[in-house]
Amino acid sequence: MNATEPAAPWAERVRRLEARLAREQRARTQAEQIIESKSLELWEANRALSGLAAELESRVAERTQELSRERHRALQLAETDALTGVANRACFNQQLAHALQASRTGGGGSLIMLDLDGFKAINDAHGHATGDALLVAVARRMAAAVRPSDVVARLGGDEFALIVRDGTSAGPDVAERLLRALAEPVVIDGRRTHTGCSIGVAHFGPDTHDADALLRDADLALYTSKRQGRGRATVFDQALRSEVSRRHALQDEVRRAVAEERIEPWYQPVYDQRRGAYVGAEMLARWHHGDGMVRTPAQFLAAVEGLDLLDAMTESMLRRALVEARPHVEAGLLAHLAVNVSPAQFNRGWAQQRLPRLLAETGYPAQALVVEITETALLQDAATTGELLRALKAEGLRLALDDFGVGYSNFSLLRRLPIDLLKLDRTLVCDIVTDANARALAECVLDLAAKLHIDVVAEGVEDEAQARLLAEAGCACMQGFWFARPARRLETWFRLPQPVRKAASATAAALAPTAHDAALVAR
Ligand code: C2E
Ligand code: CA
Ligand code: CA
Repeated sequence: MNATEPAAPWAERVRRLEARLAREQRARTQAEQIIESKSLELWEANRALSGLAAELESRVAERTQELSRERHRALQLAETDALTGVANRACFNQQLAHALQASRTGGGGSLIMLDLDGFKAINDAHGHATGDALLVAVARRMAAAVRPSDVVARLGGDEFALIVRDGTSAGPDVAERLLRALAEPVVIDGRRTHTGCSIGVAHFGPDTHDADALLRDADLALYTSKRQGRGRATVFDQALRSEVSRRHALQDEVRRAVAEERIEPWYQPVYDQRRGAYVGAEMLARWHHGDGMVRTPAQFLAAVEGLDLLDAMTESMLRRALVEARPHVEAGLLAHLAVNVSPAQFNRGWAQQRLPRLLAETGYPAQALVVEITETALLQDAATTGELLRALKAEGLRLALDDFGVGYSNFSLLRRLPIDLLKLDRTLVCDIVTDANARALAECVLDLAAKLHIDVVAEGVEDEAQARLLAEAGCACMQGFWFARPARRLETWFRLPQPVRKAASATAAALAPTAHDAALVAR
């Protein structure tokens, strides 16, 4: 304090202090008010925020659930067959890979491939809706026949597959169960629809690594079931694989043999007991194999047919046979030559299209050609069959019903269709001496044929007793080892006069292959 200034009175100092205090008090109150109001704002903001967060959280949860449902649906769609609801091919492949993986540590299972028999025919006859309904029913039956842990899949079309993960012994049992389950008719729109199935089974175990190889094995077994007549199951094994490779080798050989015309016509004559002479002949296929042996149709005909080569084979054989037979016909020695036409060949109109051309090409007379067909060829739609037969008749050809007496032996066919000749089957003929029923049946056929003015040739006559009994029953014409075995030349039985023979053999030689001739021997 300055000594020259008068000392501030106390009262003044107190007043100033109070004024300062009051100011500070106001400022504090103000600050408190501000804090209070901001806290409220903060609290409200906080409350709003936590509401927002809760809402957001629930929305996120909802969307996550929705997405997971969609993913599940998409996965299901990607894994299931849209029509039947069982696993599709992609899922099946995955499951098979898992099953093989799991079996590495021990255990195993079976892969079953299944194809419906005759599905295409049902689809064609009753429409796709029926076909679809049938596939759904089949998938259901398959699923019902196995355990939920087994995988049922549709691989496409009428192709199904099954993975049975239970040792290797369960497969065949499951296959049998499936055969039974699918043999029962399915009722669709009140109509009973019959289908069956063919099955192939391949086992897998700890050593099976290659899913594709396993699929091929099962496929091969399935193919074998189909080839053996369908409606059955085949289990793959190594013997099956060797058989298949043998079959493939045979197919290659047959393909070459047909191309090189090494399947040739042989002939078996028909003997007329009344005239005491050979009157006709049947052309029979023989394969002159590279090993020097002559093979019979039982050894190659199925392969030829399977390769769709029957038309080519028949045509090349028949062309040569007609050229060889023509001089014998013209010389009045041979009344007719017979050619076998398979049911499939007949029904696709091969004979109607090709025979007239072959006759024109070779100058062979139509009335001296007999077309032999079996009854099975005539079991298709009666109107079409009749038309096909009449077309052949219109060409002047003769028609024979082959192997009569086995199968259905449908007598009404004889009345309805323009059949000229019946060939009494070997199985009836061979029992004719020992079995009274076979004899009665043969006599009955001969009687009926006589009344219908249809000729009969008894086939497979192997001894004198059979020949005598047949002759007594009124059968004049016979074919069989008792009279002659098939041989390579018609000349064996139908001897042309010398000059004609020379001319004829020159024409035939122009057509016949010469490379194998030397090695050939009669059966
Ligand atoms: P298929 O038409 O019934 O011909 C008669 C078969 O019986 C011939 O057999 C013949 O050799 C045989 N055979 C004749 N007599 C006797 C006998 O006394 N005893 C016995 N056990 N058998 C006898 P192959 O030549 O083996 O022909 C078998 C079948 O193959 C034929 O039966 C025929 O269905 C078919 N086939 C033969 N050649 C052809 C052909 O060129 N085309 C077609 N589609 N099928 C043919
Ligand atoms: Ca025949
Ligand atoms: Ca026959």
